[in-house]
Amino acid sequence: MVLRVCPCDLGRGYGECCGRLHLGEAVAETAVELMRSRYSAFVVGDADYLLGSWHSSTRPRVMELDRRVVWRGLTIERTGAGGAGQRQGTVRFSVAYTEAGRDEVVTEHSAFSREDGAWVYVGPVPGWP
Ligand SMILES: [Zn+2]
Repeated sequence: MVLRVCPCDLGRGYGECCGRLHLGEAVAETAVELMRSRYSAFVVGDADYLLGSWHSSTRPRVMELDRRVVWRGLTIERTGAGGAGQRQGTVRFSVAYTEAGRDEVVTEHSAFSREDGAWVYVGPVPGWP
């Protein structure tokens, strides 16, 4: 899928935004930047990027993306740490999508950390809705 506007809600062109990360031309400097690029990877169907940006301790062995899901938007609600000079971070976000004709919204408070220097997704923060 070729996109002009990046789906991650920053309003930039895909090629100048998450597309650079998906192609390996740039790396996420912050946890929330990685979070945005992972959402965009769902939109463009880039399972390899999703697996590659997942912490090795929690990463699934394979990932099947459901092409029938229509992604309708990402909202970043709150971030904790996760800055350029930090090693841990959290991002609370919600994602709107349509599946089987039903509009859904899922909210997650996710933990991110660095692995081999790069930000990776760990999983939901325990105890958060
Ligand atoms: Zn983007």
